[in-house]
Amino acid sequence: MYQIECDTHTHTLYSRHAYSTIEENVRAASEAGIKLLATTEHFSDMLYDDYKSLKNYQYLLCLSNWPRQWHGVTLLRGCEADIVDMEGHLFGHDIEITRSTIGDVLDPPGNLQEMIFRRLDFVIASVHSKRHTEGQSIAKNTEMYIKALENPLVFFIGHIGRAGVPFELDEVVKRAKELNKPIEINEHSFSWEGHHQQVCREIAIRCAELGTSICVNTDAHMSCEVGRTQKAQAMLEEISFPQELIINRTRESFIEGLAKSGVRTFDEASLK
Ligand SMILES: [Zn+2]
Ligand SMILES: [Zn+2]
Repeated sequence: MYQIECDTHTHTLYSRHAYSTIEENVRAASEAGIKLLATTEHFSDMLYDDYKSLKNYQYLLCLSNWPRQWHGVTLLRGCEADIVDMEGHLFGHDIEITRSTIGDVLDPPGNLQEMIFRRLDFVIASVHSKRHTEGQSIAKNTEMYIKALENPLVFFIGHIGRAGVPFELDEVVKRAKELNKPIEINEHSFSWEGHHQQVCREIAIRCAELGTSICVNTDAHMSCEVGRTQKAQAMLEEISFPQELIINRTRESFIEGLAKSGVRTFDEASLK
C-alpha cells in the first residue's frame, strides 16, 4: 500500500447528496491517519433552483471561520466547480450578484465566482452535466479540459477518468506536467466494474510514463469514506506506479505542489 497522507476531494452535507458534517469528516480523517483534508463542495447549478442568489452560498462565503488545524488535521478550503462550456469556464463566471445575503443592494454588483473563489485555497474543475459537450469533437473536449486546467485557481480536473467525455489523454497529461498540476485518480471511479476503471488505469500508466504527478482522492460523500483509497491503490500497485509521483503522499508534498503550481502558497504560520 502507498503512503497517502492527504484527502483533497471531499464533500459535506452542503453538497446536498452528501451526508456528513465537516467535523465528522475531520474526525474520520484523523482516525484514518490523514494529516491534511480539503473540503471541496460542489459549486454548481445542481444544488439550488435559485442558484443566482448569494443566500445559497453562505457556507462557502464563511469558510474562513474554520480552524486550519482541527483534531490534528490540517484543513484546506476548496470547491469542486462545474466546467460549464467548451471554453473551460467554471460555474459562476457569468453570474452577477446584485444583493447581499441579507438582501441589501450591492453597489457595485459582484461576480459570484470571484466572490467565492477569493476565499478558497484551490479549485477542482469537473464536468458533471455533459450538455455542453454533446456533439463536440475529441479535440474540442481536450481543449476544454486544458483551458479549465490553465485557470490559475484550478489545481486539478476532478474525476477525469469517469466524466464520460472523451479526450486526448496525452495532451492533457503533458499540459498538466507543464503547469505543475496533478491528474486526479478518484476512488469513486472504482465503484463500478469495467470501463471507468480501465480509463483510470490508462491515465495512471501515461502519468507514470510521462512523469506527471497524480492526486489520489476519495471524493468522499460521507465520513466513513474519508481517507480510504484502497481500490485506487490496488490499481496503482498493479501497474507499479511510483510513490514519488503521488502529490498527496505527504502533507508537505501536497502543500509544496500547490505552491509550485502557483495556485496557493502558504507560510506554515498561516496553517496553525
Ligand atoms: Zn464530481
Ligand atoms: Zn466530488
